[in-house]
Amino acid sequence: MRKLTLLSVVAALGVWRFWPLPDAVIPQGEPLPAAQAPDGLRFALLKTGSATTLEAMVVAGGSLFRPAAVGHVAVLVEHPAGRFLFDSGLGTGVDAQFDSGMPIWAKPIFAYQQGQPAVQQLRDAGVAAPPRIFLSHAHWDHASALTDFPQAEIWVPAAERETALHGQPPAFLPSQFGSPTLRWHPFSFDGPAYAGYPASLDLFGDGSVVLLPLPGHTAGSTGLLLSLADGRRFFFVGDTVWNHRGIDRPAPKFSVSSLIVDADRDATWQAVLQLRGLRDANPGLQIVPAHDSSVHDPLGYFPQFVGAVAR
Ligand SMILES: [Zn+2]
Repeated sequence: MRKLTLLSVVAALGVWRFWPLPDAVIPQGEPLPAAQAPDGLRFALLKTGSATTLEAMVVAGGSLFRPAAVGHVAVLVEHPAGRFLFDSGLGTGVDAQFDSGMPIWAKPIFAYQQGQPAVQQLRDAGVAAPPRIFLSHAHWDHASALTDFPQAEIWVPAAERETALHGQPPAFLPSQFGSPTLRWHPFSFDGPAYAGYPASLDLFGDGSVVLLPLPGHTAGSTGLLLSLADGRRFFFVGDTVWNHRGIDRPAPKFSVSSLIVDADRDATWQAVLQLRGLRDANPGLQIVPAHDSSVHDPLGYFPQFVGAVAR
């Protein structure tokens, strides 16, 4: 066993050191279209779990010595015309889902420390559960809490629902999708091209909350572009990158991790490069990966909100 562990460490080091990085041709980004964001629009990050790993495990060429703090968040978005969650975080049933569904070899890779599930945080704060949940994608750590919100409609592109229902561990845990009470609401991006993306879905018709297709990590991966009344703009990009350094360098995920989790590695890489081009063209844009605590921490966590309070 010790020999095996040593061998895997040596193999991982070899891959880390010698696996070639793909070419980084950053496409020219487009300016973001204007948004008429209402005063009451705001969001809060609900931290439902965490983990600590090394930067080298989350981004190619990352440091073997610098720790990377991983967060599992659900994003509560409140718009005067509606409220929803973007991703659900780790739910009340995550331990059972993980223990029974995750292959033994993958458990150390995806180990987590559970925080308070979103449903409990909302209940403790006297905040009603939102009627809709959008998923950046349906991997286990984003879909874990779906059954905690039985009244909510689950909005995903049709391709993502199909992927979820046929998905296998370690990326998907079928036990999360077995309940007949899940209220799927497949949608399509039937809005116009947006800032270089071929289609979009403007949720409230004012340009403040726009969903964009980010296929690669999964077939139906979805990004959320949020524009606040004070002019700040945030792009929640799910697991297209795990860490902001993926955009800064730019670099894909560590190759071994990417082989395990990215459905289409080349499409994921192109999506990363497009994000970098978009940020270069829109310097105020803040890109928010789903798991990068170094990006989440400065924004604060629920019950703290980002954005104006309704007058
Ligand atoms: Zn994830």
